[in-house]
Amino acid sequence: MMKHIHLSLAHMSGKEEEFIHEAFLTNWVVPLGPNVDGFENDLAAWLGEKSASPLHVVALSSGTAAIHLALVMLGVGPGDEVICQSFTFAASANPIVYQGATPVFVDSEPGTWNMDPELLRQAIDDRLRATGKLPKAIIPVHLYGTPARMDEINSVASAYGIPVVEDAAEALGSEYNGRYCGTFGTYGALSFNGNKMITTSGGGALICPNEESARRVKFYATQARENFPYYQHEQIGYNYRLSNISAGIGRGQMYVLDEHIARRRAIHALYVEKLKNTPGITVMQPRSNVDLHPNYWLSTILVNPQEAGFTWQELSARLTAADIESRPLWKPMHLQPVFAKAPAYVNGVSEALFAQGLCLPSGPMVTDEDVDRVVEIIKN
Ligand SMILES: *Cc1c(COP(=O)(O)O)cnc(C)c1O
Repeated sequence: MMKHIHLSLAHMSGKEEEFIHEAFLTNWVVPLGPNVDGFENDLAAWLGEKSASPLHVVALSSGTAAIHLALVMLGVGPGDEVICQSFTFAASANPIVYQGATPVFVDSEPGTWNMDPELLRQAIDDRLRATGKLPKAIIPVHLYGTPARMDEINSVASAYGIPVVEDAAEALGSEYNGRYCGTFGTYGALSFNGNKMITTSGGGALICPNEESARRVKFYATQARENFPYYQHEQIGYNYRLSNISAGIGRGQMYVLDEHIARRRAIHALYVEKLKNTPGITVMQPRSNVDLHPNYWLSTILVNPQEAGFTWQELSARLTAADIESRPLWKPMHLQPVFAKAPAYVNGVSEALFAQGLCLPSGPMVTDEDVDRVVEIIKN
């Protein structure tokens, strides 16, 4: 029997159960509690090692909730537009619509597959002409863990005074110019869903600009309950806090985070090495004028059917037949029926990537032998 090779399976440190057990013993089987504080501190300390100033991290129920609360904090509402990278997962864009605002999609540049800073500038100018207003926020994404061109994106954003919400859901541990992704925008969103870099079974976090904003995010995440002896509400709130049990899993996962990053990078390096000079197959390796250290959350390839002699769909079917998971690249948001009416600034990059791309098994449980099996199928 051949072993089933997963795309991105979670992997436990073994410490998770201790934190969960402790929560049960101390009867903290409720939202909030010591594991939530502990997990927030762990994240802030870990990310803070490459940050000039202390970080303010709020643990939330999902990465989607984190992006949503960032938009709430920035005052995004009906009639507003928010620019979002088109080449991403729908969770980057959905919260814009939750706020009654309109997403405006901007295409990618080929070096990082992320938001094209020049197209971003054109989009902002054009929105200003079309609506008389500036977009309320900009959401770049570090897709597959490859850092977006943050210096250029931030300089365009600051030239117009527009805040940036970094979608770093796939990019925990990725470095751009010696700093961690998620710490470049006004807000940075992380995800701890089952297949991300670390998991809390479901969860996320928002990296906030200061103590006061972090306090405010916690307030919105706990139904916007005012500080009164009775239940007083002056704002619309959300039930978005991470549970103490989930946070316990997160605390345990912090013990394997470095290991997971190292393993995913090693898997990517193996694919690069073993697939070099394979006709029609290109392993994604970002090009940039700054120092990039992607976490390689997922290793991805492009399949040129003329040169390879097969399409990514055919390759994917062969992998499936061999009990190996693969996945197409994200379908750009400007091609999604649900966003058909949203303004989009496109240059063909994300459409070309979507037409040729495939994600390969990349999780920390993938062994060198598993990579060999995947490579064998690609080469034959
Ligand atoms: C996973 C993901 C999210 C959402 O995170 P959840 O925790 O699943 O809500 C947002 N953006 C991107 C790019 C993602 O991959």
